[in-house]
Amino acid sequence: MAFVWVIILSVGLIQGVFIISSLQTLFPRGSRKKCLFRVLKGLQITPVLFIFASAIWFFFVVILPIEVANTYLSLKSICYTFIASYLWLNMVFNYLAAMIVSPGYPETRQELEEDTDIHLDSLKFCSKCSRVRDRGTHHCSSCSTCVLLMSHHCPFTNNCVGLNNFAYFFLFLMQCSFGLVFAAYSTYQPFLSCMMYYKSALYTADVCKELGDYAVMFLVVTFVLLFMFIMLSFHTFLLIVDISMIDFLKLCQKLTFKEWVKDVFIERGLQKKKVLLRKLLLFRREKWWKFLVPAFNEIPELLPPDQFLV
Ligand SMILES: [Zn+2]
Ligand SMILES: [Zn+2]
Repeated sequence: MAFVWVIILSVGLIQGVFIISSLQTLFPRGSRKKCLFRVLKGLQITPVLFIFASAIWFFFVVILPIEVANTYLSLKSICYTFIASYLWLNMVFNYLAAMIVSPGYPETRQELEEDTDIHLDSLKFCSKCSRVRDRGTHHCSSCSTCVLLMSHHCPFTNNCVGLNNFAYFFLFLMQCSFGLVFAAYSTYQPFLSCMMYYKSALYTADVCKELGDYAVMFLVVTFVLLFMFIMLSFHTFLLIVDISMIDFLKLCQKLTFKEWVKDVFIERGLQKKKVLLRKLLLFRREKWWKFLVPAFNEIPELLPPDQFLV
């Protein structure tokens, strides 16, 4: 029964994230001034942190001792421990980096006025935050500021996703999907044996009794994996057609289905120059293998800003 309550609590917390996020969008000014809303904003990251902690506890305390009889000595246990720890560390690092690293903000009018070499007349400024409005820059009502190459405001990291932290966000989605595939692989056997009554040498009646409600974990993992996979596919698609999430939403209202197929899927999908892919992801590390380990972005200045977008 305790496990059912844990699931209900998790779903409640995740719903809470969306409710808080909606309140901030509906009441952007009032929300930032009140302490209560600041606390609630902090609470937005708790569901994901809770899931991280539960995942590593569940693997090492519940699954590993059953899967591997002599837990810390066999080759299987070493492989399991290495894969789980590697994916978990990458996932947590990229999540925290997406949350902490600033997405990148354009300069304000006041900052530029101090620099006498720049002609302010040739620049466009945001009427709400007085920052420079280049192509790809958007104003976030939750953060009350313009963000460079803004993708979206992520309620789970409580931060905007833009030029400087998109790589972490995308790597988090990728590592999280890999981690969930591994979690599904580790939990499908107990689910089949204890819930569907398939015969297994490992998951006997006694082990299933000890495992109890935890045997249903495979369904929870599959559900989260499906959600993550949809998110990862969607953001990969946006990188392939070279459109930010905000521009995608604008195009949804503007284009017909036929125009979508011709202008977006075929023309933009097949064009070789993928500016967002290069600026947000590929040029963020000097060596390709640094995408596979927890590492901070290395190259801050990338391509010139005005060659792209719809
Ligand atoms: Zn602005
Ligand atoms: Zn934001």
